[in-house]
Amino acid sequence: MTSRPVPSANAAVLGFDPAERTWVTGPATTASSFAAAPALEGELLIDEASRQAVATDLGNIAVHKPGAVLRPRSARDIAAMVRFCRAHGITVSTRGQAHTTLGQGLTDGLVVEARSLNRIHSLGPDVAEVDAGVHWKDLVTAAFGQSPRLTPPAVTGYTSLTVGGTLSVGGLGGLVGALRTGLQVDHVRELEVVTGTGDIERCSLHHRRDLFEAVLGGLGQCGIITKAVVELVPAKERARTYVLEYTDNAAFFRDLRTVIERPGIDHVYAELYAPGSRPTHKCYATVFHDGAAPDDEAAVAGLSTEPVVDDTGYLDYVFSIDRLVDGMRETVGWDGLLKPWYDVWLPGSAVEDYIAEVHPTLTARDIGPYGISLIYPQRRSAVTRPLPRLPEPDGSPWVFVLDINTVAETPGDDPAFVKEMLDRNTRLFARARDRYGAVLYPIGSVPFTEQDWRAHYGDQWETFREAKKRYDPDSVLTPGPGIFRNG
Ligand SMILES: Cc1cc2nc3c(=O)[nH]c(=O)nc-3n(C[C@H](O)[C@H](O)[C@H](O)COP(=O)(O)OP(=O)(O)OC[C@H]3O[C@@H](n4cnc5c(N)ncnc54)[C@H](O)[C@@H]3O)c2cc1C
Repeated sequence: MTSRPVPSANAAVLGFDPAERTWVTGPATTASSFAAAPALEGELLIDEASRQAVATDLGNIAVHKPGAVLRPRSARDIAAMVRFCRAHGITVSTRGQAHTTLGQGLTDGLVVEARSLNRIHSLGPDVAEVDAGVHWKDLVTAAFGQSPRLTPPAVTGYTSLTVGGTLSVGGLGGLVGALRTGLQVDHVRELEVVTGTGDIERCSLHHRRDLFEAVLGGLGQCGIITKAVVELVPAKERARTYVLEYTDNAAFFRDLRTVIERPGIDHVYAELYAPGSRPTHKCYATVFHDGAAPDDEAAVAGLSTEPVVDDTGYLDYVFSIDRLVDGMRETVGWDGLLKPWYDVWLPGSAVEDYIAEVHPTLTARDIGPYGISLIYPQRRSAVTRPLPRLPEPDGSPWVFVLDINTVAETPGDDPAFVKEMLDRNTRLFARARDRYGAVLYPIGSVPFTEQDWRAHYGDQWETFREAKKRYDPDSVLTPGPGIFRNG
């Protein structure tokens, strides 16, 4: 794949359009199409400031200013507006926190702000029923406040993300889960969904299973999640983390493979630093406990390096990335920086060789002072839903996510930097897919054609396409990724 050239200097650059893989250079939308919109319990905003505020996502690369913004008070509001938009040929995208980085949730049509549906309807003992706009942070806090203490079994590294947003992409347990529990989509009992025909449906494994499975990890293609019944499990009071440092890929992977199989270890992730840094790899292995200190010697027995031990309260641990991001938000304007992120799933048998190949090619610019590169192990057998796609089975019980979360050093547009990094992502992904059997984790910035999407969904393509035809026959929902741009 190649990227299109950057536009000439005097074009009014609005951003990169991942669906067309080209630069958007002029205004595309109007608010007047919403003049005859139905009466609603919530708000329909057509003023310039409200539309501009949702014209991009965390990546700041793709830009689409919608014609209107819906702040719904109910699923009925969303259903009424989907029916209106369908009748008028207007596309609809739902916006959680918009923390994707290549416009996956943007549209020229109607943006539905899920955050205005943010109630926790019920909590415990083993499930919570929540609106799609609830932040995981709020659910984690409320669940931990129960007696006995509870937690979702899989919690993302950053928790100021919406339930509906991460259930639409998959939801890897960045700080809780992953070794034994599967993705967040594996712990959903039931959903309430507004389909592309404007119908409100409940679905689960036992009722409308086709819709349930097309929506979990379905990138908003077949329905808008309005409520979810998600599982909760007992939480421990504290987290004890063994921080292990390496300067050698082979030693790092030897120890990583040891700790992910060790029964007493509950969670593991790792960081990669640019070559030349000391260390180049850092592994974080965590044991959750109730106060009686775990056996440190057993936790790190046989590893090639001495750990630094960090013992904190559970919520302190779970919100550690939130504190980091909140800090950068205040100090360096993190939200406004360009973020051409690269995120892939790698087969367990290939991860070490792929990282041995890619890591030496990374420079400080590939990550940036505010970026990070991460490795997350995930036990394959715990992932049960068909749609968040994983690499083909390769005999290994593990799959790994590699993130190269590049962040620009300075604020402002920089088309040359964006082009360089999107080209890099395209190149890295093509090699990872063709040589190592990698599969995209579609939260980042790898431009995809419809052919790429077909290959991505593989044997699930026809099922997904059928569900799209059934539940969104006029392709109203979520055009951003460009999966069904040709029907
Ligand atoms: C600092 C940081 C750390 C992260 N850590 C992790 C991690 O540990 N594990 C992980 O898996 N991911 C992680 N992510 C990625 C994250 O899962 C995605 O960015 C996800 O998109 C965030 O959810 P959101 O609420 O911002 O959703 P959005 O970005 O708003 O939405 C994602 C997609 O789903 C669609 N959508 C949103 N809401 C709905 C809905 N209710 N119904 C149907 N479709 C909808 C949108 O249109 C869009 O296409 C991280 C991101 C950041 C910025």
